[in-house]
Amino acid sequence: MVTEALPMRVPMARPNTGTLELDLVGRALRSGTLSMGPYTLAFEEAFAELTGRAFAIACSSGTAALHLSVRALGLKEGQEVITTPFSFVASANCVLYERAIPKFADIEERTLGLDADQVQGAMSGRVAGILAVDVFGHPADHAALADVAARHDVWLLEDSCEGLGSSLLGQPLGSFGDAATFAFYANKQITTGEGGMVVTDNPDLAATMISQRNQGRDADGTWLRHTQLGYNYRLDELSAALGVAQLQRFQELQTGRSKVAEGYRRRLAGVPWLTVPSAQPGTEVDWFVYVVRLAPSINRDKVIADMARVGIPARPYFSPIHLQPFYAERFGYRAGDFPVTERIAGQSLALPFSSLHTESEIEMVVEALFDAVATQLGQ
Ligand SMILES: *Cc1c(COP(=O)(O)O)cnc(C)c1O
Repeated sequence: MVTEALPMRVPMARPNTGTLELDLVGRALRSGTLSMGPYTLAFEEAFAELTGRAFAIACSSGTAALHLSVRALGLKEGQEVITTPFSFVASANCVLYERAIPKFADIEERTLGLDADQVQGAMSGRVAGILAVDVFGHPADHAALADVAARHDVWLLEDSCEGLGSSLLGQPLGSFGDAATFAFYANKQITTGEGGMVVTDNPDLAATMISQRNQGRDADGTWLRHTQLGYNYRLDELSAALGVAQLQRFQELQTGRSKVAEGYRRRLAGVPWLTVPSAQPGTEVDWFVYVVRLAPSINRDKVIADMARVGIPARPYFSPIHLQPFYAERFGYRAGDFPVTERIAGQSLALPFSSLHTESEIEMVVEALFDAVATQLGQ
């Protein structure tokens, strides 16, 4: 379907790292402390401040952050977690790591996040928590989801791996729920190469995660004294130094992203066969990706193939989790199970995006998109 072999004229994403990153990573390297050290602490401190949380725990990936969170929240084998099929697979996989069951509920078109009514309908005595995702930087309906969680006395975990810098009614994403997770893969709002973060206001959760990130050592990190089962989910100092630099440049990166998003919006708003992404009232979105929705009459996958043929990448985003072969086989999910998710997933098209894409690259992407769609509209 997607032709990957052709050389692309525009990259799908491009990390924005420069001299500050080189400088701090170089300092970390020369310091001789290459695992957790002062840069990890500085990164955590700056991150807690940015998200308005009491504790920030750096770890090796967003997936590790999710796994640490569900374990610290006490998830047990056989319990269920209500979550969204319209996400990256890691937000459901972390539940399976604990031999618990991800129970999908459909999303709402408005927020692209979990529909609180569907979550309510999926509740049962086996449900331990709700795992909500802030999709593409759009806030989920956290007030309604917190309400359902409180009514049923279950925890709420916010996967904000795509939400850094966005806010809902003035409150930063990552500040909702019992804990929230972030990820720093190369295409995220900030990158550390690989890396992740959990934030929480709960000191007990924080202590558990700090210990389990580091092989289950006591909070004071005593050498070879392990009080619980843990992992090596530590972030290294080089990555943390990169993270410190990225946070120092956060506004600059944010401005770059919003310029690129505006470049697309200016060219695409009002086009009859496409919907541009927009922030819901009361929300501010720091775009993580730029995902447009094509009219149902347009064959999205053919558009992707036609764009690839002229060297412009574009992606379906997301491909629903419940229809991934592994999930469909293991749990018997089928097309039609989550209609809102499937409809939106079938029409969504992620365009090349980062804080560094230039006006001429945006122009090339838009031109390729128009040409690809024109062949279908018979123009
Ligand atoms: C990126 C992402 C993750 C996982 O992050 P990694 O660092 O790649 O492990 C989890 N959830 C969502 C929604 C993401 O976009």
